Amino acid sequence: MCDLESFKIDLRELKQDETIREFNLDHHFFEAVEGSELNAGALHVSVSIRKTAGFYELLFHTEGTVTVPCDLCLDDMDQPINTDNRMVVKLGTGYSEEDDIVIVDEEEGILDMSWFIYEFIALAIPIKHVHAPGKCNHAMTEKLLELSAARSSDENADQPTDPRWDKLRNIKINN
Ligand SMILES: [Zn+2]
Repeated sequence: MCDLESFKIDLRELKQDETIREFNLDHHFFEAVEGSELNAGALHVSVSIRKTAGFYELLFHTEGTVTVPCDLCLDDMDQPINTDNRMVVKLGTGYSEEDDIVIVDEEEGILDMSWFIYEFIALAIPIKHVHAPGKCNHAMTEKLLELSAARSSDENADQPTDPRWDKLRNIKINN
């Protein structure tokens, strides 16, 4: 189990102008964050927190791979991730998020970066992600092609669809 405590930063305690935090993420991180889209990967995150007059600027650099199902064959594949993200944090009253600015309660001063990091990774995944040519699970792609061909001829005949095909199709869409 990954302890997400290490992703919490006490902004009031930052003494230097710039603080660097590094994290290595694996499936423990994804399990702990409990995001629905991702559950495995191997990534390195470097966060630079710069303290300036009135606000904190956070620069995230995230590099590595996440495990996602291939669009074509549904088998797991490693999707490379390389993303830079910026965030501005201010101390204020209560907690809120507005556009790119996060307000952290000045009484607490604690910013939990775990969910932001998760979202940066999720947003960096291209809409279309497939195995390298020739690396797909052929048995599965052929099966899916057969099903979609059978399905379209079925639709043309205007007959009720086979619920098993719907189920498979839904799995594909949901992933
Ligand atoms: Zn594939």
